[in-house]
Parts: sequence; structure tokens; C-alpha cells
Amino acid sequence: MIAFEYSQLPARVVFGFGTIARIPDEVQTLGCRRVLVLCDPHHAADAAARVIDTLGDAAVGLSIDAAMHTPVEITDRVMEQVKKTKADCLLSLGGGSTTGLGKALALRTDLPQIAVPTTYAGSEATPILGQTEQGRKTTIRSPKVLPEVVVYDVELTMTLPPRLSVVSGINAIAHAVEALYAKDSNPVTSSLAAEAISRLARALPRIVADPHDRDARADALFGAWACGNCLGTVGMSLHHKLCHTLGGSFDLPHADTHAVVLPHVVAFNAAAARQAIDRVAHALGVKSAAAGLFDLAASLGAPTALKSIGMSERDLDKAADLAVSTPYWNPQEIERDAIRALLDDAFRGRRPSD
Ligand code: NAD
Repeated sequence: MIAFEYSQLPARVVFGFGTIARIPDEVQTLGCRRVLVLCDPHHAADAAARVIDTLGDAAVGLSIDAAMHTPVEITDRVMEQVKKTKADCLLSLGGGSTTGLGKALALRTDLPQIAVPTTYAGSEATPILGQTEQGRKTTIRSPKVLPEVVVYDVELTMTLPPRLSVVSGINAIAHAVEALYAKDSNPVTSSLAAEAISRLARALPRIVADPHDRDARADALFGAWACGNCLGTVGMSLHHKLCHTLGGSFDLPHADTHAVVLPHVVAFNAAAARQAIDRVAHALGVKSAAAGLFDLAASLGAPTALKSIGMSERDLDKAADLAVSTPYWNPQEIERDAIRALLDDAFRGRRPSD
């Protein structure tokens, strides 16, 4: 018999094509009347304008201020707009950066949120908020930041460029991989994780071959939700900590960093989490999970080396120091020399194996 604990997250999901037309009903169900729309510059002229149009008088403002890693100064500024418009609902339409702004505002106001994600980052499915203040990134977990409703409109992801789709999709896969060997892993999250890895790994090559492939886009977005759910329900380990350090302290691009680091962390953890890593390999349809993830990234044109995404070799020592400065759980014991070696492999883009 297996023993486990599992807490389901209280969020409603609406998934399909053209679902942004359902937003006014969702606002009404939440009992709200004054919606502040937050969006991505990419969606300002089209999707957000359509949402504002269908909301009519219920749309009380628009902000396109969101930025990567949720800087607190931006949240301060948009808070003024929340107060001025007397908004009673936050609607974020965009990638993880826009979702992050909605969450940061919800943390301060406890206003209900409707998230409309347009990348595969998965933030919309988690009660986690990462924000930066004076260059330092901190993460908090609170039920206040979990969006009450997530509207997935596959149509909005059709414009996500193939390169961004690939790195964002691998960012999502990383949540599922770490969920499989989490200290608090459970059979519900693990089933979802395996399914999500398999869907995304099959969808991404189809998206690169044809960015307008509707079935592939739907599979990828479903996989992204499932991966986000994994991130929201179990604890993450070395991979997420390392990417957090590299992104926060060396300003590396979020999703690219995940794509480069993941195969190396999988190789690092393989011996200590054999069953979980074998499940990753099975979901990918390959023998070695680490090599399979590296090959997936390389074959789809994603970066495979930290040196190609802005990391400087002289910062590797500092990155290794930072990565071991606060202890946390990981299947394989973490010690500095091994992390330094892992970073060296990731820096040079060596193909790992497990
Ligand atoms: P992002 O939101 O910054 O979007 C990247 C770029 O893609 C932007 O220029 C945006 O305008 C554009 N874009 C978005 N959707 C598009 C579309 N459909 N078509 C064309 N262009 C589009 O990046 P991201 O990778 O989605 O999110 C990264 C952020 O999310 C980071 O700050 C990360 O820390 C955070 N995140 C948080 C969690 C969490 O649980 N808290 C989880 C994952 C990511």
C-alpha cells in the first residue's frame, strides 16, 4: 500500500478555443463588477482589447506594465491604479510575467483573479509568487495569490513564436520532472506529471514544424496546465533553486535557463531518484532522460549552454556558492564541488546522460 498526502488547489479551469468570450460570465459568477485588465504588450491591441470590449462598463482600466520577475516598484505603481479605479477583480492576460503582476496585486488586496495565460510557464496554477526588490528575488506561497479562475484559450497561444514555445514548454516540463522526485510526491501529481511530460514532448516538435497546428497547441497548453498544477501541489528541488539563483543573480532569461539546466539536474539526481527518472524517460520515449531532454532542446533549436544565454564563466564559482548557501531538500545530497561541475557542464553545453 502507498501512503500519501495531497491537497487539491481550489481553482476553476475553463479550457478550449475562443474561451475569452466566456470571461464576462466568469466575472459575474465571481460576483464582480469592476475589472482591471493587466496584459502583455503583445496582446494589448488584440485579445485584451476584445476582452475589454466584451466586458463593456465592467472594464475599469488597463495596465501593460508587467515585467519579468515581478519588480516590486511596478506592483507599487499599478497598486495606485487598483485604488483609483476601485477594481474588485484582476484579470491578467499574458505570460508568467503578467500573471505574476496579478498575483502580486492579489497578495496586497486579496482581490479575486482571473488568469488568461498565453505561454506555458504554468504560474497561473500555483499559489506561488516570485518577486524582485532591489535585484533580490524572493518567493512566497500563499492561497491569496492563486487565481480563482483560469481561462485557457488555445487561440491566444497560436502566435507564441516556435522558439519561445519550446523554451516555455521545457520550463513547464521542469515542473513535472521535479514533481516526480519531490519529497512530498503523491500518485495524483505524479500521474499528471508523466502525462504532461509526454504531451509536451510530443507537441513541441509539431509546433516547431507548424506553429498553427491546433491539436499540438491544445496538447501543449493542457500539458502546461498539468505542469503548473504539479508545481503548485508539491515541493521543487535543485533544478528550480538553481534556475532561481541564475535568473535572480545573473539576470539570465527565465525559460532559456530552465531549458539549459534541466538535463544536467536530471543526470545529477538520477542515481538517487532512479524510479522517478525512469518515469521521465518513459514519458519522453527514450532510454536516458537526461540525454533525451538535452536532445529535445537541441533538436528544436533551444539553447543548450549557459554561455550562449549570457552567463559569464567567471560567475560560475559565485553561482555554485549561492546555490549551496541555503540548505534545502533534494534527492541527491548537494555539495559544492558537484554543483560546480554541473554548472561547468551546463555552461559548456555538454550532452549529459544518466
Ligand atoms: P513572459 O510573461 O515574460 O513572456 C515572454 C514574452 O512572450 C513577452 O515578451 C510576452 O510579451 C511574449 N508573449 C507572451 N505570450 C505570447 C503569445 N501568445 N504570442 C506572442 N508573444 C507572447 O515570460 P514567461 O516565460 O511566460 O514567464 C516568466 C515569468 O513567470 C518569470 O518571472 C517567472 O519567474 C514566472 N513564473 C512564475 C511561476 C510561479 O508559479 N510563480 C511559474 C512559472 C514562471
